[in-house]
Amino acid sequence: MTYGFDTLAIHAGQEPEARTGAVVPPIFQTSTFAQDAVGEPRLGYEYARSGNPTRDALQECLAALEGGRRGLTFASGLSAEDTLLRTVCRPGDHVVIPDDAYGGTYRLFAKVAERWGLSWTAARISDIDQVRAAVTDKTKVIWVETPTNPLLGIADIAGLAGLARENDALLVVDNTFASPYLQQPLAHGADIVVHSTTKYIGGHSDVVGGALVVSDPGLGDELAYHQNAMGGINGPFDAWLTLRGVKTLGVRMDRHCDNAERIAAYLQRHPKVAQVLYPGLPTHPGHETAAKQMRRFGGMISFRAAGGEGAAVDVCNRTKLFVLAESLGGVESLIEHPGKMTHASAAGSPLEVPSDLVRLSVGIETADDLLADLEQALG
Ligand SMILES: *Cc1c(COP(=O)(O)O)cnc(C)c1O
Repeated sequence: MTYGFDTLAIHAGQEPEARTGAVVPPIFQTSTFAQDAVGEPRLGYEYARSGNPTRDALQECLAALEGGRRGLTFASGLSAEDTLLRTVCRPGDHVVIPDDAYGGTYRLFAKVAERWGLSWTAARISDIDQVRAAVTDKTKVIWVETPTNPLLGIADIAGLAGLARENDALLVVDNTFASPYLQQPLAHGADIVVHSTTKYIGGHSDVVGGALVVSDPGLGDELAYHQNAMGGINGPFDAWLTLRGVKTLGVRMDRHCDNAERIAAYLQRHPKVAQVLYPGLPTHPGHETAAKQMRRFGGMISFRAAGGEGAAVDVCNRTKLFVLAESLGGVESLIEHPGKMTHASAAGSPLEVPSDLVRLSVGIETADDLLADLEQALG
């Protein structure tokens, strides 16, 4: 039988431990495992870079939550991305990336991978014709985020999967903003799902990590080979914290969405707000596509301050409950100025973001308190 999302979040990969019955998977804080005889590692575990039972529990759980066959976890989202690129790409290959990609993802392509012979083109991924125009006969990967960071653009996953297939390219979806509770890209034809588990999956702003999930077993084996060969793994304590967080993912996401919907509606009526970017608003250009592929619209909202850059910076400095910080997806609400913070590395590039933009990661606090905080900060 197949279980529902919340059941999988709590049980997938998390059988009570065989020897003691411990209900929660133990933290196997060990670098190596005793072998029964030469060449006979117990249950396949020999060295903790290659395999660790705590990490395996998390990997199995994430694979189940994304509806994939294989999950692999890493020290960070960027480590997962790097492992993915160096597994599927060769020098001379080309990649299409979103023109408002996460700043660190952009930096990985522009400042690191390019030196190793990988070329890239930034395209507006909400416009499939722009993506098609960016594809060349060398394109190996079409890389999308949906919703995008920080402009909350929406990509049509099924449409892009078709385009990728026609061109013998792989469709990679960074599903960090939606989380598998709201969106399962593999079901819409994506080849690889990427996560920064630092965000909603961990959910408590206390651990950094990344993940890859795939359906194809051959691709899964290749990625697993590189996970071990390149060594960018997460440690057992980080895997355990992430697994502890993911159990409540569905419950948290529903509250993130409830709060974000109220705040987006409030901001839309505010005279000091020029534009609200939230895919749940019927006025958002990606609303219909988002409604097709997402259960709800998530906890991330960006807005443009009517008073320009100065006003945007002022709001960020004035909130009391919304903590001024980078990152997102935790239980506490955060506010930031992408142009000067998360996306500063994209300044002067095709990925530069508007200077009057403010990004909110709406937490799961009491909604009235969050609204009151924004009301005083907008003054
Ligand atoms: C944070 C983030 C990443 C990078 O993940 P790290 O865990 O910080 O390395 C990648 N993509 C998106 C959308 C992110 O928000």
